[in-house]
Amino acid sequence: MKKFLKLLAIAVVAFVLFVLLKTLTLTSKSSAVAQVTPIEVPDEALARLQKTIQFKTISYSYTTPHDSIEFTGLHHHFASVFPLVHSQLEKKTIQYSLLYKWPGTDASLKPVLLMSHLDVVPVDEGTLKDWEAPPFSGEIKNGNIYGRGTMDDKVSVVAILEAVETALKAGLKPKRTLYLAFGHDEEIGGEQGAGAIARYLQEQGVQFECVIDEGGEIVEGLVPGLTKDLAIINVAEKGYVSFELTIATKGGHSSMPTADNTIGSLAKAITNLEANQFPYKTIPLIDRQIEIMGPHMPFIQKMAFANTWLFGSKIYEALGTHTTTAPTIIKGGVKDNVIPTSASVVVNFRVMPGETTEDVLQHIIKTVNDTRITVKSISNRNEPSPVSDYESASYKIIEKTVLQLLPGAIVTPGLVSGGTDTKHYQTISENAYRFFPIRVNDTNITGFHGINEHLAVSNYKEIVQFYYQLIQNLNE
Ligand SMILES: [Zn+2]
Repeated sequence: MKKFLKLLAIAVVAFVLFVLLKTLTLTSKSSAVAQVTPIEVPDEALARLQKTIQFKTISYSYTTPHDSIEFTGLHHHFASVFPLVHSQLEKKTIQYSLLYKWPGTDASLKPVLLMSHLDVVPVDEGTLKDWEAPPFSGEIKNGNIYGRGTMDDKVSVVAILEAVETALKAGLKPKRTLYLAFGHDEEIGGEQGAGAIARYLQEQGVQFECVIDEGGEIVEGLVPGLTKDLAIINVAEKGYVSFELTIATKGGHSSMPTADNTIGSLAKAITNLEANQFPYKTIPLIDRQIEIMGPHMPFIQKMAFANTWLFGSKIYEALGTHTTTAPTIIKGGVKDNVIPTSASVVVNFRVMPGETTEDVLQHIIKTVNDTRITVKSISNRNEPSPVSDYESASYKIIEKTVLQLLPGAIVTPGLVSGGTDTKHYQTISENAYRFFPIRVNDTNITGFHGINEHLAVSNYKEIVQFYYQLIQNLNE
């Protein structure tokens, strides 16, 4: 017994020492980058952004046409305030989407695409009173600019144009051809905008070194214990699919309900799906993110980040690294005293890289385990994106650009759970990086598609400075 206790004590000590050793040896590997002085962004640039926000370039659905006056109005606004872009770049309009080509001096280099989208989501009328300033005003109040598109994501369209106009004024000539692409229907899938642009470029035989889109940000104070700016360059996005589950029964009179009646059975299927979630898991990209963030965390969190073999599940949960399950629409029943013969529910899934929409379908059938329920997809079945190379030269250029402007920031690759327009360029681009330096914190995070969408004026200037510096760095 004594011997056993002794062995146990040794095992415990070894275990603690191992955990501590892993923690203490988790150190930052980021390389030092010299800070640069960013370009001056004049106040007139704010007026150009404000005016951009005022166009109601809303995407509702493919059955509600886009408002041509608003979209063409925005095109004319760009042509009038960015004259050099419009005289020196080749421009092509595809429906309401815009594509610009800035030819480079070295045709042997693959082009790079800077992209964003012109459309925004509608504003729920009932929430208008909760906005600090009207959603299509572009009003500036207390150092913030308000309106749809200040975060998602007209802001980066104008910032890219502002940076290119400034570069043209300075006489900069890109070595590598740069394309700028701004879709008009990203918020409803991007098929007619980015999709059409990508098909056009494919016909032209264009192959990109990389595309750089929205979808990553600078996270401020949202990770408990992390005090530095965290720049997340998302190198992959989850897949997307919505399945409709429909139950068919004999129905009947509500005075004689059976134990397995229609709505109750469908409800059971929903609770089964919610109770049997896809497991959290890691992929090399997530391991890398943990390795980069870990050294900057306070001791206890650092210990967890350094010992994912022991504490990984909590971190994966916080990072949302699994296929998510979200029931979103339910329908059924016609009269209060009739048991309906059918009812249905729509469940939306965001699919983790490494899994497929077919895996989701099989999971539903197995989990629901009810032959009266049929399952069919009612959305595009978008598989998870490939994971772009986070060791590539172009990734390193984006990383360097961030560090030149924000010394001390932590830059990490990541996985985005929402969808972006980059999916349309998958076949014509080596890599896709989703990032621009919009600062997201707990005062503005609800602005994405929500109430009071706004951006700090100082942050807008940083975004323009980022694109300008990026264009310069792509020339090296
Ligand atoms: Zn967006």
